[in-house]
Formats: sequence, structure tokens, C-alpha cells
Amino acid sequence: MTRAGFVAVVGKPNVGKSTLLNRLVGEHVSIVSPKAQSTRTKVVGIVTQDAVQMVLHDTPGLMTPHDVLHESMRAHSLAAIADADVVLHLLDSTTARHGSLVEEANLEQPPTAPIVTAFTKIDLVNETRASELLGARPAARGVSAITGAGLDALVQTLTALLPESPFLYPEDDVSTHSLRYLAAEHVREAALAQLEEEVPHSVACVVEEFREGDQPVYIRAVIYVERESQKRIVVGARGSRIREIGRTARERIEALVGAAVYLDLWVKVLPNWRRDRVALERLGLLHRED
Ligand code: GDP
Ligand code: MG
Repeated sequence: MTRAGFVAVVGKPNVGKSTLLNRLVGEHVSIVSPKAQSTRTKVVGIVTQDAVQMVLHDTPGLMTPHDVLHESMRAHSLAAIADADVVLHLLDSTTARHGSLVEEANLEQPPTAPIVTAFTKIDLVNETRASELLGARPAARGVSAITGAGLDALVQTLTALLPESPFLYPEDDVSTHSLRYLAAEHVREAALAQLEEEVPHSVACVVEEFREGDQPVYIRAVIYVERESQKRIVVGARGSRIREIGRTARERIEALVGAAVYLDLWVKVLPNWRRDRVALERLGLLHRED
């Protein structure tokens, strides 16, 4: 008898969704950034252990929509909640106020799936604060994606709630995303690490060519920004910043594909792409009902 199902990982921006997902999956499949709102589309990680397979959905922030990109991000998150067998609601231990899922996500009604609540970053608070948080919500778990504290217990809680089912994906898959998509996410992550404040929200990456047969593997990637001034920032003085972004991204992509990579990296301006449905579609960021 096997169990399998979908777990939607939900919570405010920056609570640690992507970090936890990566730790659980044991592979770098979801972009992690100290800057809020870095996860734009639904990333799926797959954990298969003994007779249980958990398919994890990382969800973009459930913030109030400001533009077409935000609307699309919210639609992704709501779809992940509606599809889920279990909803994992994450709350940040280091912040003072914690709402219910319905409040935080501004849902019209609670999800039909059971909700498991976990306090993240438990390594950052002292024991008094940890017992206070868990005392107020006895069913909640305290976890740290950095130290691994509480993760086994969390996985047990989640898997016990999954339905009896054959596995949904092959046992050794870690993600339903293509290498091409993951490579683009690595470029975006490397770019975000180098950029301050305003620019990150304007950055999108697309891999336009991926020749796996070549040695080294040839990848042409484009970083899209919204304005010329942002392009100059990404490129840096005499190309210094783009070289640094390229070097970091290349090393991570090499680890992912297990081969030497030639990363041909470009920066282009796509004016106001975040407010442009056609551009979002082209960048693969528009949510489609399926
Ligand atoms: P998301 O926006 O919810 O996906 O959050 P991220 O996974 O991108 O994490 C946001 C920030 O919190 C990053 O700087 C992470 O390194 C940090 N973080 C996430 N989980 C933990 C944790 O368990 N412990 C500590 N100390 N930091 C964490
Ligand atoms: Mg994230």
C-alpha cells in the first residue's frame, strides 16, 4: 500500500517556503532569496520516501495584487491550495503577529484540505519564545530548514494526511520542471543576489537555447529588465556585474546538469513587462487555468 498526494506550501513572502522545500527535497529546485516575492511560478518538488510520495508546491506570495504579475502570482497560489491534499501553512517564528490562513491569504472560505501549521526559522528564536508560539497553537510544529530541527516530525504529520494512492511520478524524480526552467531560475537567483531594492522585481530570465549534446553544454540565457537604466545596473561597470552573475549561475547550473557549461548571458530591455500580458506570456509567467 502506498500513499501519494499534493502538499501546497503556503505563507507570506519571506517566511521560508522555498528554503524548506529545498531542504525537504534535498536538491536545489526552488529559488531562495532574502528578498521578498522571489518565487513567481509554482515550483514542484517531489519527495519519495519508502511507501510515500509527497509532491510539494511552492507558492508565490499571496499578497494583494498590484499589477498583472501579482494577479498571476496570486492565481497560482490559490490554484495550488485548491489542488492540495494537505496545505502546509508556514508562519515566521521571528515575526510578532500571525494570522490564520484565511486571514493571511484573504480567502473567501477555508480550503477543503486539512491545514498543517508550522513555525519556520525556529533556530532564530530562544526556547521561551518557541514554547510561547507552540503553546498558542498546540497542533503546530516548530521547524528549521537550516538546522533540520523538527523536519522528520513535520514530514510524518504531512504524509499521514496523504491519501492512499499509487505514486504520481517516477521514484527518483525531484522536480517536474525541465533543466531549462531550472537553469533560468539559477540565473535569476544569481542576478537577484547582486541587485538592490527596486531592480529585483523587474528581473525575469529565460533560457532561449539549451544544447545538451554539446561539450561544454551550451546555454543561451537572457535577463530581461524593464528599463535601460536597469540594464546598465545589471551589466555593471565594464560588464563586471553581469560577469559575476554569469560565473555564479554557471557554477550552480554545472552542479545541476553534472557537466561543464558554457553560459552565454544577455541582458535585454522589455519595457514594463510586469504590466504587459503578452510579455508575461512570453516569459512563461502568466497563470493559466487547467
Ligand atoms: P519564501 O519567500 O517564503 O520562499 O522564503 P525563502 O525560502 O526565500 O527564505 C527567506 C529568507 O529566510 C532567506 O534569507 C532564507 O535563508 C531565510 N530562512 C529560511 N528558512 C530559514 C530557517 O529555517 N532558519 C533561518 N535561520 N533562516 C531561514
Ligand atoms: Mg520563495
